[in-house]
Amino acid sequence: MYRSHTCGELRSSHINNEVTLSGWVQKTRDKGFVVWVDLRDRYGITQLVFDEERSDPKILEKARDLGREFVLQVKGTVIERTSKNPNLPTGDIEILVTQLHVLNESLLPPFTIEDKTDGGEDLRMKFRYLDIRRNPVKENLIFRSKVTLEVRNYLTKQGFIEVETPYLIKSTPEGARDFVVPSRMNEGQFYALPQSPQTFKQLLMVGGLDKYFQIVKCFRDEDLRADRQPEFTQIDCEMAFVEQDDILNAFEGLTRHLLAEIIGVETGEFPRLTYDEAMRRYGNDKPDIRFGMEFGELNEVAKNRDFNVFNSSELVVGIAVPGAASYTRKEIDQLIDWMRRPQIGAKGMVYVKYNEDGSFKSSVDKFYNQEDFTKWAKHTGAKPGDLICILSGNIAETRTQLSALRMEMAERLGLRNPKEFAPLWVVDFPLLELDEETGNYHAMHHPFTSPKPGQLELLDTDPAAVRANAYDLVLNGNEIGGGSIRIHDKDTQATMFRHLGFTPEKAKAQFGFLMDAFQYGAPPHGGIAFGLDRLVAILGGQETIRDFIAFPKNNSGRDVMIDAPAFIDDAQLKELHLKLDIQT
Ligand code: ASP
Repeated sequence: MYRSHTCGELRSSHINNEVTLSGWVQKTRDKGFVVWVDLRDRYGITQLVFDEERSDPKILEKARDLGREFVLQVKGTVIERTSKNPNLPTGDIEILVTQLHVLNESLLPPFTIEDKTDGGEDLRMKFRYLDIRRNPVKENLIFRSKVTLEVRNYLTKQGFIEVETPYLIKSTPEGARDFVVPSRMNEGQFYALPQSPQTFKQLLMVGGLDKYFQIVKCFRDEDLRADRQPEFTQIDCEMAFVEQDDILNAFEGLTRHLLAEIIGVETGEFPRLTYDEAMRRYGNDKPDIRFGMEFGELNEVAKNRDFNVFNSSELVVGIAVPGAASYTRKEIDQLIDWMRRPQIGAKGMVYVKYNEDGSFKSSVDKFYNQEDFTKWAKHTGAKPGDLICILSGNIAETRTQLSALRMEMAERLGLRNPKEFAPLWVVDFPLLELDEETGNYHAMHHPFTSPKPGQLELLDTDPAAVRANAYDLVLNGNEIGGGSIRIHDKDTQATMFRHLGFTPEKAKAQFGFLMDAFQYGAPPHGGIAFGLDRLVAILGGQETIRDFIAFPKNNSGRDVMIDAPAFIDDAQLKELHLKLDIQT
């Protein structure tokens, strides 16, 4: 028996018990006549004591030689500590050790195994197994396990069944490139790893399973963006005989349950905003609504004067930044420089200070009077003491830029409180999105999403105007889930593929199986998928998903611990009928 108790378990009620513990050496303190060792495992830390008076001299000598991260098994007696440590659950006791076995030695770890480590990100990733010994990483993994368990419990209670779908499949287009796997047995042919189980979960609905979920790995070969992982986990769900509202209600239930159960936050009914409204009010389809600063459109009250910058703009729009009228000229200039950086790309910014005494001072005083500014204040909801920041230009870019400013100001003002949770649904997304580069339309969600009833005909005349039965669940400025009601008849699916530029042959070759299935009594159905990594990070009050993944990839998509991806040898290439076009 390696242990009778864990290192987090013993209290003063155990005093005089004989116990056996196993764990790692956190640290040793050698005072000459006495040696203390902190022994650590997943559950906590227990202090061991060896001294000249009470310990066998051989054991005391052995204790002096212990290094950090050695693995020990000790037997001993629980005794009361003379100086107690109120910060440690086991801080009232220590173990007077009578037997000491070194189960394994350890090299000196390349960084300290402490909550605040001296190890940089790269080093921690290379030795991730040591990083996982640290409390913050360990706690995050335990937290993640708690969330997935709660998801499984809740959905199972609601009648969902968990079904595994294959990883070696044919492409499912979700907007990214596929990772592919060569087939040894089928010369020249490749599997694709699923970007999501989309088509399979739809086929499960054709199969009559009615309510499906899966906690599942998905793979997308995207250009790397900060905090994206090429493989990530979804809570993937599908239901038959549902309308949009049924899905929203079901998964609002799940989200509310998680917020209540995991962090003890009760949430009311989630607001539902249309995509158009979200864009108009926040310039963003995943607005953070923990704070105000809603957009005020100013076209009516700012155009048709002598200020040509505004006159020539499609949109003039502003936000009122609370309390920022006190910004100095220098601070405002710095803010404008920040907006001009290429990442944001604003050409400039007009500002109006709404002074505490009710007067206005602005960068466009030449063109507008106090009466105008009063109207601007009304449109943006500004109060005395606020700074109104105004951008202008074409609609899409201006909204994106102002949204970035809104988030930045909220960050600076401390309005993005990670302990506060403000979920909402964004609904009625456009069905299609124009690819600026190619001039083609592609599906904004995916090609299986159904247009709003009665809008199919619009596809021929005004494709950009078609709205979809598609929705996102947004939490604190992050998209944590998204889904849609699906097309479930062959003809509509064929029309959709045609509009996405598929020839009938190509559609058949790639998705014939799905369209065939639709001919055998496919029920109306729809679903949603949550990004589990991000959901867990947000529930955990953090934004970086890497910290909640046991073995994440770095920003270049590499696993630096196992050093992957890697070259394979010639024999393996040959067996797969592959030839590389590069020198390795
Ligand atoms: N497959 C979709 C996605 O991964 C989710 C869905 O439509 O259910 O985003």
